[in-house]
Amino acid sequence: MSQTFSASFVLKRRAPSALSRLGVVAILGIAFFALPESSRAVPPGKPLEIYFVDVEGGQSTLFVTPEGQSLLIDTGWPGNAGRDADRIVAAAKKAGLSKIDFVLLTHYHIDHTGGVPQLFAKIPVGAFIDHGPNREPDNRETEQSWEAYQKLISTQNAKRIIAKVGDILPIEGLRAEVVSSDGALLQKPLPGAGAENPACSTTEKRPTDQTENARSLGTIITFGKIRILDLGDLTWDKELELVCPINKLGPVDVFIVSHHGWLQSNGPALLAAISPRIAIMDNGATKGGSPSSWDIIKNSPRLVDLWQLHFSNEGSAAHNSPDPFIANLPGPDTGNYLKLSVAADGTLDVFNSRTQTTKHYPPRQ
Ligand SMILES: [Zn+2]
Repeated sequence: MSQTFSASFVLKRRAPSALSRLGVVAILGIAFFALPESSRAVPPGKPLEIYFVDVEGGQSTLFVTPEGQSLLIDTGWPGNAGRDADRIVAAAKKAGLSKIDFVLLTHYHIDHTGGVPQLFAKIPVGAFIDHGPNREPDNRETEQSWEAYQKLISTQNAKRIIAKVGDILPIEGLRAEVVSSDGALLQKPLPGAGAENPACSTTEKRPTDQTENARSLGTIITFGKIRILDLGDLTWDKELELVCPINKLGPVDVFIVSHHGWLQSNGPALLAAISPRIAIMDNGATKGGSPSSWDIIKNSPRLVDLWQLHFSNEGSAAHNSPDPFIANLPGPDTGNYLKLSVAADGTLDVFNSRTQTTKHYPPRQ
């Protein structure tokens, strides 16, 4: 039987792993209930680790907290003999996981939700998180992805959480606040945000997007001093609502580039509002990575580096980062990943599995 929790209930209930931990404590008869989070046996300074899995122009980003809680944002494509599920499970194993606590689906397009059945067959999932019903039923591929997901929820006893704007997701060890869901957007500025955004007046206005992209479940994830933004494939018109005329998001340290770096998203008003230090783009060789988006991100004033999962063929030499910042260069598909490690003091490290090298970013002053 499926379990669907309303947003208000989500906020009140404890996460499944917390419940099971409490269960273990009860069996042992040890009264650890009053101990604060920080007294658990986690080595000091252990980072939040984030794997940017190469799903060839889809999205799949795995967050693993120092306590071992996990959140996967999106599952990549179906088909390809389970390629994307295999790559996600390989990342999970590297992180020492035997299950994924939460799988968040930003929206139901095939490059985000299509991989759910193959993934679920390969690794246990604690609960799924989504924005509610599919709003693009006329798109055959999208409807098929949605139906396969719904079938899994109803037949496999999978838990499902529908997240609303303002919810804090029930994940221990980091704070994940919902800023967009099912077309609704954050209405009040987050702490530290709220200034007027001068880039609004010069950013082109675009028609309302009617697809599932505009329904994307977007989150701001805070760990220690670091803020990370993931808006899924949220489109240009919604970005403007979110950061104009008032910047409701505020600056972030890491921008998981929207929509694979495609020109339907990543407008100048958004980049001026969030002004990231590091951007990581989950593009494919022939998907996303639009030259105009690349320029907008690259010209963002605080940006230090733009990392890419793939060299963008469309970008050619002028609109791609230098090779050390790219996980997959033209040639045979080897599925290299990027891993971002976030220390609570604000230190960032990005590891490129192709080059086996790490770039270190000290905390901002
Ligand atoms: Zn997409």
